[in-house]
Amino acid sequence: MEQKKLSVIGGGASGMAAAAEAARTALRMGESIKIVIYEKLPKIGKKILATGNGRCNIMNADADVNMYGGNRKAVRRVFEKYDPESNMLFFKKMGVYLTEEEDGRLYPMSLQASSVLDALRFELENLKVETVCDTKIKSAERKGSGFLLNGGIYTDALIVAGGGKSSPVHGSDGSCFEILNSLGIRIKPVFPSLTGITLKKKNKFLKGVRAKGEILIVENGKVVSSSRGELQYTDYGISGIPAMEVSRAVSEHFALNKKGKIIMTVNSLPDFSPEEIFDYILARKKENPGLLCEDLLSGVMPKKLGISKIQSAQINPSEKTGSLTKNQIAVITEIINSDIFEISGVLGFENSQVTAGGADLSLFDIDTLEAKNIKGLFACGEVLDVDGRCGGYNLGWAWSSGRLAGSCAAKFLSEK
Ligand SMILES: Cc1cc2nc3c(=O)[nH]c(=O)nc-3n(C[C@H](O)[C@H](O)[C@H](O)COP(=O)(O)OP(=O)(O)OC[C@H]3O[C@@H](n4cnc5c(N)ncnc54)[C@H](O)[C@@H]3O)c2cc1C
Repeated sequence: MEQKKLSVIGGGASGMAAAAEAARTALRMGESIKIVIYEKLPKIGKKILATGNGRCNIMNADADVNMYGGNRKAVRRVFEKYDPESNMLFFKKMGVYLTEEEDGRLYPMSLQASSVLDALRFELENLKVETVCDTKIKSAERKGSGFLLNGGIYTDALIVAGGGKSSPVHGSDGSCFEILNSLGIRIKPVFPSLTGITLKKKNKFLKGVRAKGEILIVENGKVVSSSRGELQYTDYGISGIPAMEVSRAVSEHFALNKKGKIIMTVNSLPDFSPEEIFDYILARKKENPGLLCEDLLSGVMPKKLGISKIQSAQINPSEKTGSLTKNQIAVITEIINSDIFEISGVLGFENSQVTAGGADLSLFDIDTLEAKNIKGLFACGEVLDVDGRCGGYNLGWAWSSGRLAGSCAAKFLSEK
């Protein structure tokens, strides 16, 4: 009997996980399936090497659906089948042991993303999965009960794992949205997430400053997103993990042309109450009235940030603290506690880590990730309408959804 073929479009995290799980499932069932990954770049897994600053924050120990945007019902269902523990075992079987850092962030023990990619490559070789690189899939159409790729490559089942539009230098150029759409899958509006926030008023003086803070995104008077941690002030606005995390709400506002106003507030001393900040400044003034205002806050935040707070309060940094009035101290306190910035947008897909929106999961069976009306078509990873916050949630989704799609595609072929 002729060997059935499963094709995977995209050799990224989800595509590799899908192919490996499909091969393992076929082996368990005693089935012989030809599994081929088509990858447009010269090598598979380029993006994995860039993850976690080259250390690969491979997943989070906690599969909290609240850390995801998009279709959370699907996230919950997929994690019920392949949870972080099962993904840890998946990697353990390949010899990759993990180590946990703060907030449940897991990394390979080697602290090298290359070791994760190597293990996946060796696993695919071992499982006889074929990888065809330098091959972009530009079209997919129904042909009998299977699919025809690029007008000439026949496959009995198809897994679309080409990612979103974020960081196109790593291969994800959005072409898989078009492929799925041409097969009848609706694509929800896509927009960049986990990216920097651009401000209307640029502050070049603060470029390069890093400091702890809490960001709130306020849309039409309502807080829609918040995060705290180390902020990075840049020439275009603000970056760092907290800014990246709240960028989703900002990006969605602009991408969907939402009505009304969106602003950002920054609390630069989130561990202090306004009363404590006021008393701190008052004490500095009383204890050292000759101190220049430019040095007033340098005991609690980087000097440049302190100067910018003083300037925002319309106070000359060369003034002596002894001349500060209680009213001026109240204004400085307010600015430290809740500095308001007008937002102009976010950085584009080029500088984002994940794409929000994507293939509408209501058109898929979330128990199998097979399209409801197109038998044999599966999708996984970022191409689907799921995006996570920082902390390993996006790779976590890639492994779990990839493994589910892979195992179900192998079962589908064995029953075909
Ligand atoms: C700089 C950076 C750092 C990140 N760090 C982390 C982190 O530490 N932890 C975390 O959880 N997440 C991280 N992410 C997010 C995470 O990497 C992605 O969410 C995840 O890789 C998505 O996996 P995927 O397989 O769905 O898509 P991708 O990894 O984007 O892979 C898609 C693959 O498909 C190929 N492809 C696309 N279209 C076609 C086509 N038409 N034909 C053939 N091949 C095609 C692409 O070349 C690519 O190889 C990071 C992202 C970036 C950009």
